Amino acid sequence: RIRLEDVSKVWDGLAAVDQVTFDVSPGEFVILLGPSGCGKSTTLRMISGLEQTTAGRIVIGDRDVTREPPGNRGISMVFQSYALFPHLSVADNIVFGLRSRKVPKPQRQERLERVARMVGLEDYLDRKPAQLSGGQRQRVALARAIIAENAICLMDEPLSNLDARLRGDMRREIKALQQRLGMTVVYVTHDQVEAMSMGDRVILMHSGRIVQDGSPAELYNRPTTAFAASFIGSPA
Ligand code: ATP
Ligand code: MG
Repeated sequence: RIRLEDVSKVWDGLAAVDQVTFDVSPGEFVILLGPSGCGKSTTLRMISGLEQTTAGRIVIGDRDVTREPPGNRGISMVFQSYALFPHLSVADNIVFGLRSRKVPKPQRQERLERVARMVGLEDYLDRKPAQLSGGQRQRVALARAIIAENAICLMDEPLSNLDARLRGDMRREIKALQQRLGMTVVYVTHDQVEAMSMGDRVILMHSGRIVQDGSPAELYNRPTTAFAASFIGSPA
């Protein structure tokens, strides 16, 4: 469970995130949706601990982690840019975090094989990131997040560098993996199609605030503001 209570982030007197409150239940797939600059990534980075909050509280499980460093939060993250190490093989990229956490080699190898099979990378483990397609690189980033076996995974526009067709395939793959592993996911996107097709719940943001929070069907059928209606593309 993740809980944000009145979380804000202020830069130079401007609130990028403005008193945001929401809960995410275990196993839930929650989308943070909204236009560019509305504060989605900042919200996600505060949950992960990569960014400190200016105000408010973040609770994970029953622990207040507001002042905990990122490493202590039990969270994996997948970025738009993949953030792979170019000089390391696919295999070493995937197990990098396990190495630094001193997971013994036989266990690393067993987990690597299992996760590589899950994301369809078993034949690419010796390659370098530069020798992979965009979709394959994104799979490496996913594998690295999954292999950590954290209950929570945060994803920031993970598919926005892929072409439209591959995006559709990867949406289904991510969703299937999330369900199979029972992961709790907070997924940032500005793409309403992605939000509506993947989310159990969609939190729509605008100028650092939450505009509406509900199921995809609720947002589509009963937008509470003109902004929500136009952003979701609901029938007038
Ligand atoms: P996008 O869809 O373009 O990724 P976003 O919703 O993820 O947008 P954020 O990256 O969270 O938006 O940024 C929210 C606001 O905070 C923006 O106005 C941005 O300019 C500002 N901002 C983000 N990072 C910083 C920073 N390090 N210093 C100052 N302002 C920042
Ligand atoms: Mg962003």
